[in-house]
Amino acid sequence: MYYNKKTVTDIDVKGKKVLCRCDFNVPQDKQTGAITDDKRIRAALPTLQYLLSQGAAVIACSHLGKPKGEVKPALTLAPVAERLQQLLGQDVIFASDSVGPDAQAKAAALQPGQILLLENLRFDKGEEKNDPAFAKALADLAGKDGVYVSDAFGTVHRAHASTAGVAEYLPAVSGYLIQKELEIIGGALAAPKRPLVAILGGSKVSSKIGVINNLLEIADTIIIGGGMAYTFSAAQGGKVGDSLLEADWMDYANDMVKKAEEKGVKLLLPVDTMIADAFAPDANAQVVATGEIPDGWQGLDIGPKTIELYTSAVANAGTVIWNGPMGVFEFPAFATGTKAVAEALSKTDAITIVGGGDSAAAVEQLGYADKMTHISTGGGASLEFMEGKALPGVVCLLDK
Ligand code: ADP
Ligand code: MG
Repeated sequence: MYYNKKTVTDIDVKGKKVLCRCDFNVPQDKQTGAITDDKRIRAALPTLQYLLSQGAAVIACSHLGKPKGEVKPALTLAPVAERLQQLLGQDVIFASDSVGPDAQAKAAALQPGQILLLENLRFDKGEEKNDPAFAKALADLAGKDGVYVSDAFGTVHRAHASTAGVAEYLPAVSGYLIQKELEIIGGALAAPKRPLVAILGGSKVSSKIGVINNLLEIADTIIIGGGMAYTFSAAQGGKVGDSLLEADWMDYANDMVKKAEEKGVKLLLPVDTMIADAFAPDANAQVVATGEIPDGWQGLDIGPKTIELYTSAVANAGTVIWNGPMGVFEFPAFATGTKAVAEALSKTDAITIVGGGDSAAAVEQLGYADKMTHISTGGGASLEFMEGKALPGVVCLLDK
């Protein structure tokens, strides 16, 4: 799927009111409500600063958490307004509702160069239902000459009022964040610099079927690691002990191996594995060959020979798309495979793309974030993109 969509620089915003859908869904301390990581707010700055510098009046909006259509005071965006104000170095006006009287009055009075943040969109049932009346009410805040800028990549796979519905009523373009995702991930899927190597791991085969299927059509090499490798091993008659196994997906795993052969795609499976006698950070561990895991033991990481195989497979890649950790990286003793792959990616000249929420977290935690070409800002959205699915929040934007 390749998108050629208009972006903020393709549309005149001077003197206009711009409704900008951001992703301010930040992690918060459960007790105090304090923002524990403001990465997403900082990521939104380039688009917001551009709009403000162009003389737009910016109406920013976002969801936060899962209030399910009810007003939940703990999920107010007020702390985000405060943090955004510090980061922008200018006043951020905050509306205590999203399309109600306070938002309407503050949006109407908003001047070029000023920014207003609306209250949590998901306090209203209309948001997730993509209710046209709610979408229209959002659009009306920007008025007759209004513009819609979509910059929340994390929600583009959802057709909600603020991510898709609103584009019915306003000219719609992407912000810089979405533009970058479309260019880099879209580019790698549509016209990759070859060889294209896909590294797929994580916990379950069942959650990655779409990605494996789509990448089998595009990639030159597919590398399988993580928990899902044991379903492939079991399907080939191997002993997997207590490892993660999806018995219902064994036939599918065999089909994928066959399909790869037919298509001439090199499919690499682990040759050895690091096993543990419990799912615990301090479990006893040892290395065994694939398919030889004794009862009472489970595979929690790829083994050293597999690391060797996989890191040499990416060394000469043109593009690497990585989704899914190679092992239980949350336990330092079983993060070796994931770290080795991240290290190998950091050393190639390839375009390196990391998608998936846990994969992005792993790369950051292990200290390789700034060594990758691109780490997607959307977990589920990047997966659906890699599956080749149409993204409603992107489809609705104006074509170039
Ligand atoms: P992403 O969010 O990047 O798409 P997933 O959600 O598919 O990735 O998988 C991430 C999870 O997979 C991690 O929490 C990791 O602990 C788990 N995982 C990886 N390897 C194994 C394994 N061998 N056994 C159990 N869980 C695993
Ligand atoms: Mg995940």
